Amino acid sequence: MPHATPSIAPSVWLHIGAGSFHRAHQAWYLHRLMASGDRRWSIALANIRDDATPLLDALAAQRGEYVLETVTPQGERRYETITSIQKIIPWDAELAALTAEGARPETRVISFTVTEAGYYLDNQFNLDRQNADIQADLRGGCRTIYGAVAQILQRRMQLNGDPVTLLNCDNLRHNGDRFRHGLMQFLQLRHEDALIDWLERRTRCPNTMVDRITPRPSPEVAIRVAEATGIEDRAPVMAESFIQWVIEDDFAAGRPALEQVGVELVASVLPYEEAKIRILNASHSCIAWAGTLIGQRFIHESTLTDAIRQMAYDYVTQDVIPCLTPSPIDLADYRDRVLERFGNPDIRDTNQRVAADGFSKIPGFIVPTLLECAQRGERPRATLMLPALFFVFLLRWHQGRLPYDYQDGMLDAPAAHRLFATDDPLAAYAADATLFGALGHDAEFAQLLRQAVTQVNRWLGE
Ligand code: NAD
Repeated sequence: MPHATPSIAPSVWLHIGAGSFHRAHQAWYLHRLMASGDRRWSIALANIRDDATPLLDALAAQRGEYVLETVTPQGERRYETITSIQKIIPWDAELAALTAEGARPETRVISFTVTEAGYYLDNQFNLDRQNADIQADLRGGCRTIYGAVAQILQRRMQLNGDPVTLLNCDNLRHNGDRFRHGLMQFLQLRHEDALIDWLERRTRCPNTMVDRITPRPSPEVAIRVAEATGIEDRAPVMAESFIQWVIEDDFAAGRPALEQVGVELVASVLPYEEAKIRILNASHSCIAWAGTLIGQRFIHESTLTDAIRQMAYDYVTQDVIPCLTPSPIDLADYRDRVLERFGNPDIRDTNQRVAADGFSKIPGFIVPTLLECAQRGERPRATLMLPALFFVFLLRWHQGRLPYDYQDGMLDAPAAHRLFATDDPLAAYAADATLFGALGHDAEFAQLLRQAVTQVNRWLGE
């Protein structure tokens, strides 16, 4: 590996969560900025759990460097050595090294990717205080992001009191606000009044929207990297070529000039999140449910199937774009790029993974469009195809005819089976309040949904 120039960056960006995504996303942007000659910031990388230790050791042996492989929808691969991570923080059970790094005045941003489940929030987005890890941290531990950040901030408040930005980079709606709310509840339960007051005055938690499909690197990635670059990399990472990062420009102690490398710094991330949820996430589910129903395994196969692509295209074009207009985003272009990304055969994402969690995706991703269309006096026929596909998918699940295990954190299996024991399962499904809320009482909705299910069955030849 070529050696990095020794770091003289005066400002440190501390990242917690040494997963693949950080190294394909935030580290890539910082790398591009440094490569352009702006070396004022560099990354220090740490992990809360012990599960990243082999990776951190491999990175430390490579002075923080690794190769990122990206692949376009046309199959073109590119290789880039990423050099922005200039300090690897070794893991220890008390997170002593991480705490010391976070408390240094040079550390001005602390970002994190600890997965959606790493925030321990219930359906109302309140802290799940029954969780064993949260309970351990309420007693002074540091197993969760709340315990770790509380420990860092406590030390920082004592040592220098310098302000710092806490930047959530996980895939969560309103991720900065939700993290801050969870952290506040956590500190209130610990009666940390002085720290709460300090946190309110000296920190910011801007919301962010992050996007780049980054599968877990398979062993083939290292082989391809060696063939293409000659580098024997023990920690390579692979991602799609597309990348996007939108951040609310509300930092407590400065930030890198990220706008120089394509990051969108905005006043509010909400329109970007809404476009992502309704266009990217809902279309993804539509494609996965439809693809499963015709026996396909991979997202790209289903996206490249004309009838399925058309369903996703019509849903976005006919219903979502009118609902989200006006928008700072070119929504038609966003739709086309999303469908192109899903068609990338080299990502090999499965319909099983994306079809999961329908009972939270229908209310979260799809019902807002149904309601807004109804308010506008329109009949959202294209959107209704999505819950219609899910109805037929659920029927197959009920009959034991799905080709895989269906995973759904919100599924009440006995209640879902009972839907199909009624005289009119479709009427019972349409009236299900957990899926459709107030729409469950709407006779026109039930009738239109029935027409959409007939259309799905006709497409399936059933
Ligand atoms: P990964 O499996 O490679 O890494 C997960 C990291 O989170 C590990 O460092 C692990 O130690 C840590 N972690 C897991 N649970 C934790 C917990 N409860 N508390 C503290 N740390 C915990 O995953 P990844 O690909 O890096 O993705 C991580 C997150 O990034 C996703 O959950 C998502 O929110 C966001 N993201 C990922 C992608 C993607 O395509 N991979 C795209 C957009 C956003």
